[in-house]
Amino acid sequence: MTTVSSASPGLPGTGRPDGNRLFGPLPDVSGDAGYEPDHPARVGFFTDTSVCIGCKACEVACKEWNTLPMDDANGTRDQMALSGMSYDNTGMLGANSWRHVAFVEQVRTVDLPMPAVGLPGRSPGTGDVHAHDRVMADDAPRAAQTSVLNAQSLSEFDPQTGQSGDREIRWLMSSDVCKHCTHAACLDVCPTGALFRTEFGTVVVQGDICNGCGYCVPACPYGVIDQRKDDGRVFKCTMCYDRLTDGLQPACATACPTQSIQFGDLDELHARADARLATLQGQGVQTARLYGRDENDGVGGDGAFFLLLDEPEVYGLPPDPVVTTRDLPSMWKHAAAGAAMVVGVVLTAFVGRRP
Ligand code: SF4
Ligand code: SF4
Ligand code: SF4
Repeated sequence: MTTVSSASPGLPGTGRPDGNRLFGPLPDVSGDAGYEPDHPARVGFFTDTSVCIGCKACEVACKEWNTLPMDDANGTRDQMALSGMSYDNTGMLGANSWRHVAFVEQVRTVDLPMPAVGLPGRSPGTGDVHAHDRVMADDAPRAAQTSVLNAQSLSEFDPQTGQSGDREIRWLMSSDVCKHCTHAACLDVCPTGALFRTEFGTVVVQGDICNGCGYCVPACPYGVIDQRKDDGRVFKCTMCYDRLTDGLQPACATACPTQSIQFGDLDELHARADARLATLQGQGVQTARLYGRDENDGVGGDGAFFLLLDEPEVYGLPPDPVVTTRDLPSMWKHAAAGAAMVVGVVLTAFVGRRP
């Protein structure tokens, strides 16, 4: 039988030989949390943003399975509003939106067959004329029609500079979610045990135990966990813990039509992601990179990691996240040293007084 200890894996002095459980690689997060050795393998998400089409089926599946209330881009419950700035009307992750598909519009050379608008007859990024369009050029009326259909006017307008040009527009889409960190600061600071590590290595919050103190909200280096405005408790992705315990995969991964969201054993996902990265880079996509894959990063690697086509900041992700409880031991040491000094000064003042 799988059992769990109430000890948070982030608390110091709970048995790890090197005494450091707050950052760095941690090969067995569930074992470290107190589960017996027969616990299941750690699972996670590999989100390959290069094949995301922005359909938002993942967002809808999450809302539906978890019966999350409707909200607008400001997180206001039971409101539906258009952001007016983008196709992204969800805005950000929040207490009522546990998946968020970011739409990033860029004016630049397109190096992938991503959804894009370009000049008629040009190959993306090269300026070469397609054979198809050489034929079309001989047919003036059809060419004129094609010119309208492929929206030349859009390609000649640069919304970032407000000037016309012959550059192209591309959309980057990425379905963001809780990272189920190896070192999860949200879990470390929770005083009630509402946040806990599951036998699958994921991080789950239990709404019926959360007391609404909100300590976990600033502790999360990704800004994921959020308080629901009308009741104060916090919510976030559970990696569909209820489905996992029934042998199902998470709702969002099940709904994704392109396999942009891949769910499975974390080690297997790492190998798959490495192969995908090598393929893309072999095809000349030098900006492709993995995010959250490195166990030596500031959170010991993520249970939900990503293949990105640009800098993390472009997608609204922190470039170098660090578990916010990493420096707790040295902070307590400094505080203890300060307190000892004050006590010493007070004692010296009393002892040194003349009778
Ligand atoms: S991303 Fe934030 S909320 Fe999710 S496990 Fe990590 S610290 Fe916790
Ligand atoms: S794993 Fe489940 S809870 Fe998490 S984002 Fe996907 S559908 Fe929502
Ligand atoms: S991750 Fe999948 S389901 Fe979500 S928007 Fe992208 S393609 Fe659609």
